[in-house]
Amino acid sequence: MSKSFHLPDQVQAYVLAHGVREPAILARLRDETARHPRAQMQIAPEQGAVLRFLVELLNARRCLEIGTFTGYSSLAVALAMPDDGTIVCCDVSDEYTQIARRYWADAGVAHKMDLRIGPAVETLDALLADGAGASFDLAFIDADKHRYPDYWERCVALVRPGGVIAVDNVLWSGDVADPAVTDRDTVALRRVNEIIDGDERVTPVMLSIADGMTLARRR
Ligand code: CA
Repeated sequence: MSKSFHLPDQVQAYVLAHGVREPAILARLRDETARHPRAQMQIAPEQGAVLRFLVELLNARRCLEIGTFTGYSSLAVALAMPDDGTIVCCDVSDEYTQIARRYWADAGVAHKMDLRIGPAVETLDALLADGAGASFDLAFIDADKHRYPDYWERCVALVRPGGVIAVDNVLWSGDVADPAVTDRDTVALRRVNEIIDGDERVTPVMLSIADGMTLARRR
């Protein structure tokens, strides 16, 4: 899983033990995903707690996720939503999301999940074309980093006033703050951080949790 790169292991373990209150099925999914070759793509459990907190705070019934992987974040959101809540999950991988689908079924939340396999930009554009603008309570961006600016613009259009957009990996192990690092993903993350910071349509806060997560409230 993604961990807070700047926290000593002992402190990280303390956060997990006393600050997350992780449902058992999420812990099981986290254990299974830890054996996956791309396990670092999963969010940290304390981020799942933040997402569940946001769902409760917003009374969210309509959520959106870009980047589903094995389903930890979408399951966290679905568990916190009422029975009539839904989450649109965008991912390109049928293989990874098979694990997600198994856990959604085991958790009894499969009816809340609207999985769309395909490039997320196309899915988001289709939602906008269908009149879904300003209809989502919560959006979570955690997919291919070089497309973050594209995802951001669409999520600002899709989230309602008062809703929240959460953006993962905004610190990128600290590389965004090191001008010597100029690979494609780091440059894109730096760019989206600047876009968000200057975007008057939202009130943002960058949290140094895990690999960095920005929360932005849509105005
Ligand atoms: Ca991530």
